[in-house]
Amino acid sequence: VPGLYIVATPIGNLADLTIRAADILSRADVIAVEDSRVTAGLLRHIGVKRPMIPYHDHNAEGMRPGLIARMASEAVALVSDAGTPLISDPGYKLVRDARAAGHVVVTIPGPCAAIAALTLAGLPTDRFLFAGFLPSKVHARAEAIAEIAGVRATLVFYESGQRLSATLAALAEGLGERECGVAREITKRFEECVTGTLSALAERYADAPPKGEIVIVVAPPGAPAPATQDDADTALREALTRLP
Ligand code: SAM
Repeated sequence: VPGLYIVATPIGNLADLTIRAADILSRADVIAVEDSRVTAGLLRHIGVKRPMIPYHDHNAEGMRPGLIARMASEAVALVSDAGTPLISDPGYKLVRDARAAGHVVVTIPGPCAAIAALTLAGLPTDRFLFAGFLPSKVHARAEAIAEIAGVRATLVFYESGQRLSATLAALAEGLGERECGVAREITKRFEECVTGTLSALAERYADAPPKGEIVIVVAPPGAPAPATQDDADTALREALTRLP
C-alpha cells in the first residue's frame, strides 16, 4: 500500500530488528535513510536490496517535497541509523506533511534507547520526561536543566561519553542530589547500567570518559534514597526509646 512507513531499527544488536520491520523494508519501493552506509549494512544482514534516498538534518527541507509526492503511488519507508525515527532523529516534519497530503502513515515500532534505558535503571517509570540531548554550551545547559528541575517525573537524557561527567555534574548542581542510572552500549557486547548518585557518578567518569553511546536516567525530585542498614539501625533505636 502506498504511504509512509516509520520503521524502527536495532540500537546495537541486529537481532532486535522485528519481523514486521524486515518485511516492510524488503517490500518498500524506497527507503529514506540518514546514512546509506549504515542502512546498507542492515539490509545486507537481512539479505535485502532496496533503493535508498538520503534524508537527514542537512537535506531534509530539499528532499521532503519529492518524498511526499512519491507517497501517492509508492511505499516510502523511513529509518534512522539506529532506533526509532523521530526520537532525537529526523522525521516529524515528514510525518506532518504526509498527513497533510492525506497519505497513509504507518508505524513499525521497535528498539528505542530511551525506553530500553528506563527498563535497566530501576527508577520509577510511571511518569518520565524524555529530554533528549542537553545543549552543549554551559549556560544554555544550566538553563535547560533549571527549566525541568521541578518536573515530578523520571528524567531521560541522551549523551556522549566525552560529555558524560560534565553533564552529570551540571545535573547534580541544577537538580540537587538524586539517584541516577547511566546506561551504556545497550544491546551490545559491553552493555552496562551503572547506578549511584549524580555527583558520585560525575566523579566516577571524570578521569575516564566511557566509550560508546549513553542514556542518563535521573530519579524524580524527592524520591527517597534507597534505605541503608544505618537507616534501619537508627529507626530501630528510636523506636526502642519510645517503648514503655
Ligand atoms: N532514535 C534513536 C532511538 O530511538 O534511541 C536515538 C538517536 S540519537 C541521534 C543517538 C543517541 O541515542 C546516542 O547518542 C545515545 O545517547 C542514544 N543511544 C543510541 N543507541 C544506544 C545504545 N545502544 N546504548 C545507549 N545509548 C544509545
